[in-house]
Amino acid sequence: MNRFEAPDEYPPRSSWLRDCTACGACCTAPDISTLQKPLGVRCLNLQHSCLCTIYENRPEVCRNYQPDWICGEVAPLPTLEARVKRFLEIYGLE
Ligand code: SF4
Ligand code: SF4
Repeated sequence: MNRFEAPDEYPPRSSWLRDCTACGACCTAPDISTLQKPLGVRCLNLQHSCLCTIYENRPEVCRNYQPDWICGEVAPLPTLEARVKRFLEIYGLE
């Protein structure tokens, strides 16, 4: 499956969003054991601008993360809080 194609139950509004817009959702919503980051808690390396302070030295798990259709669902939302809420909803983790 094309990773930019949303499942049928989601509106296909992500097809145009194929690059990371640095919205910060994937650095906040999921738990990341390598960073000892709990679910829904902002990574300590995430700046208020939603850029990573250790980008050049970020761990493998962050390097391997790739934008997909979920970015199209979350990135257009106006606040990090809204983006994280939607990200967790999609994964049934809210
Ligand atoms: S959720 Fe997607 S658009 Fe937002 S920071 Fe992560 S990869 Fe980039
Ligand atoms: S280390 Fe950087 S890229 Fe990885 S989750 Fe934290 S802010 Fe995001």
